[in-house]
Amino acid sequence: MARNPKYQKAHCLILSRKPLREADFLLTVFSREQGKIRVLARGVRKANAKLAGRLQQLYNVEIYLAGSSLWPTVTSVSIINKYPKIRQSLSALAIAFYAAELVTKLTPDAEINARIYELLDRFYSELNSQSKNIEFSEKDRTWPPILEKFRLDLLRIVGHGVTTRFCAHCGVKIAAGEATAFSSFAGGVVHTDCGKHFPDTRLVSEITAGQLAILDQQALEDVADLTVGEEGHRCISDFVVFLLERDVQSERFMEKMRQE
Ligand SMILES: [Zn+2]
Repeated sequence: MARNPKYQKAHCLILSRKPLREADFLLTVFSREQGKIRVLARGVRKANAKLAGRLQQLYNVEIYLAGSSLWPTVTSVSIINKYPKIRQSLSALAIAFYAAELVTKLTPDAEINARIYELLDRFYSELNSQSKNIEFSEKDRTWPPILEKFRLDLLRIVGHGVTTRFCAHCGVKIAAGEATAFSSFAGGVVHTDCGKHFPDTRLVSEITAGQLAILDQQALEDVADLTVGEEGHRCISDFVVFLLERDVQSERFMEKMRQE
């Protein structure tokens, strides 16, 4: 069926909302139908407060859009899910905002990918039901496993999966108990010898290697009881930063090679 460009329905997760001019909002949303897009909500800060109330960050909404310009305009909104319990826990809220930011940064504009919409919806639903148990433990240096699982899944969907069981360099499975290293340049865990080819290789403990592999194999809904320590968290964080700053990192690498 041909799509009428003047009038479209979209299922969206609202990633961010910024005031624009006197009365408008510019929303960045991830839609099932069109990928990441920016849409305009007009007059909502004055006259149309009801519409504004339905267009909160993190909400899952069904919207109608008018116009085919750069920023189509929201004409009506119905709420699919508010994930209300996320807002009752500061930790859960912080993680939810972080996830929205990560999706914003790792996805190109207007590239359709329904799996990202579905992953984010599952993640927020799970965060909503676990919100009371989401904790960062300063003392034990542990991280919410659902956050790490979300990051691994998102990275895989956007085409930058982190290897957790097979060496990212030679492709051979890393045996249980074998010394393991991690390199963002390589793309995940590596044999210690294979790691010598990369500038950022670091050894990881057997426990961390095991945690990453198990996390990778479980579904998002089944990871609540797993443990992710500081080292595993750091590996995934480094990989995310590496991806976001890839060009800069490659330059640093070249510079380093030149000096050696
Ligand atoms: Zn290897």
